[in-house]
Amino acid sequence: MAGELILIVEDNEKNRKLERDILQFHGYRTVEAETGEDGVTLAQASPPALILMDIQLPGMSGIDALRVLRADERTRGIPVIAVTASAMTQDRQKIMSAGFDGYQANPIDLNQFVAALRAMLARPPPGRPACTP
Ligand code: MN
Repeated sequence: MAGELILIVEDNEKNRKLERDILQFHGYRTVEAETGEDGVTLAQASPPALILMDIQLPGMSGIDALRVLRADERTRGIPVIAVTASAMTQDRQKIMSAGFDGYQANPIDLNQFVAALRAMLARPPPGRPACTP
């Protein structure tokens, strides 16, 4: 399915532009926030199909923003992929244990990035079986 809305939460202008460009090139619609607070507000107002969440943000961190999203029934089921420069194994484990659905290291590998998003968007919504008999 094309045209899904993806929320980009990223304070770095260059990273945001790259993600926006690659997503729009592949037919997705995008909405952007520069802070975790704004990202949460946007997600609550019109829930996107997927969220790309930077971890290091001014104010609320990406991990704190994820907690807020998971605590809210409007946004609980939205897949959230962490996008962060910290590629160290222990950071990755910390991020995944926070409950993110996926992890992408910056600078992103474009092909791998798009493939990961496609796979995530193809997953059935929570509570619904993958196939119906
Ligand atoms: Mn950042």
